[in-house]
Amino acid sequence: MAKAAAGKRTRVLHISPEAVPFCKVGGLGDVAGSLPRALRKTGIDSRLLIPAWDGVLDSVRDGGKRLRKASLDVCVSIDWRVHRGVVWSASLDGLTVHFLESPLFQGREIYPDDLDQHTVLPFVFLSQAALELGEAARWTPDILHCHDWGTAPLITSLMWHRHYRTRRSEFETVFTIHNLAHQGFLPLHSPRDWGLDEDAFTVDALEFYGMTNLMKGAIAGASAVTTVSPSYAREIQTDEGGAGLGGLLRSHGFKVRGILNGLDGDAWNPARDPLIPANYSMSNMAGKKKCKRALLERCGWKDDGRPVFVSVGRMVDQKGFDIFIPAMGDMMDRGCRLFIVGSGQPEYEGALRSLSESRPDSISAFIGYDEGIAHLAYAGGDFFLMPSKFEPCGLSQLISLLYGTPPVARSVGGLADTVFEHGSPGGNGFLFFDYSTGAFVTAVDKALRLFHDDPRGYRALQRVGMEADYSWDNSAPLYVDMYRSILPGAGDSAD
Ligand code: ADP
Repeated sequence: MAKAAAGKRTRVLHISPEAVPFCKVGGLGDVAGSLPRALRKTGIDSRLLIPAWDGVLDSVRDGGKRLRKASLDVCVSIDWRVHRGVVWSASLDGLTVHFLESPLFQGREIYPDDLDQHTVLPFVFLSQAALELGEAARWTPDILHCHDWGTAPLITSLMWHRHYRTRRSEFETVFTIHNLAHQGFLPLHSPRDWGLDEDAFTVDALEFYGMTNLMKGAIAGASAVTTVSPSYAREIQTDEGGAGLGGLLRSHGFKVRGILNGLDGDAWNPARDPLIPANYSMSNMAGKKKCKRALLERCGWKDDGRPVFVSVGRMVDQKGFDIFIPAMGDMMDRGCRLFIVGSGQPEYEGALRSLSESRPDSISAFIGYDEGIAHLAYAGGDFFLMPSKFEPCGLSQLISLLYGTPPVARSVGGLADTVFEHGSPGGNGFLFFDYSTGAFVTAVDKALRLFHDDPRGYRALQRVGMEADYSWDNSAPLYVDMYRSILPGAGDSAD
């Protein structure tokens, strides 16, 4: 086992395919952008490495930050070809971010629709380049902290690559599962072209029903595995919640921890948010009323006293759209208005389009990705809907709580760890348990009753969420404990 050098701050390199404010697809982007900064406050010398997808370097320059180009490039040999990457670095609020520039990251979406031996290349390159970063960045990490399947090849390379495995003792590795539904599964029968030897393609490593499963290899090889909430950590170690990897995760259970995600309080604060029509706080809620007015106006609605239930998120099975869409008619009949923001599976997008055409007075959908509209929904809504089938952590419900928009959520995964039933200790929203339209509508009924019958009770509920602390202050120290468990002395020296 490697050991932290006495007196030297522990160095942790986070590697992620996405990170705010440069590129974001979902919650991983929020976490990768904020966790490394939060860790710096605890004394960890953390940095971040992300790919320079289209527009990323321009966004850094446009933000007025200086980009420094490393004098050395990183070179990685994959499939008998040498791929060269240029390393750019910038300092953002004290965090050094390295951007890896390569033609492999240009002219494509971050995550491919179909993962195969060609579309996986950017991720293999990112992973192996991270192992080569030390010289170019003149900074060598003690711990490599990989986020999700796109960076999983780093850990398998360190275990089974003919060259990189000779450097195994130089680093400890952490693999964080942000969503077990996306494992990096591809029809590749032998990853020999990546430089891995045959040991990598066994049932104890990457092999999964005759194919390659990137996440599986990383779980098997990492020094520690974390996921983003304690409940999800338990759920993924069951056959039901393990998405085919429950047995593997159980057998590696000794190194699995669930650490709740935090939110970046600078990005998500209704008192300072520049993207919403008016700012507000618990002591002055006038701004929230203005936000609701702006939301109603956007939808072409008059304020007739009906509450607006909002939702922001990917329109996919995971988020419960198969029970959500059938619930919408019942909800509108009960006097709810719905404002839904997101994009995803065509059948859900299509259903929302036709519902908003047939009931324009009660439902409005924005199909697409738009930060401004998402912020308006969080700020202007009266309740936030999150009927997820499964939910690793969920950030949307935390944002809605901070914005005084109590959630109605299914008690599963991270939602079970953060949303508590109104009336119970710490009650901040409404819950349901069965994955069914009926159970969901029953929870909505409870929310409606409070809203109409007990305005003071509703304000008290808003207050619980708005006054809570969802920052990294609680969770960053748990990551430090985990680093210490794999690297004695980690985090012991002062910042
Ligand atoms: P997941 O990572 O599963 O997509 P999370 O709740 O963890 O879900 O995080 C989703 C993040 O992405 C939140 O910050 C949310 O506001 C944002 N988001 C999701 N969909 C959209 C959208 N259509 N437009 C703007 N932001 C979105």
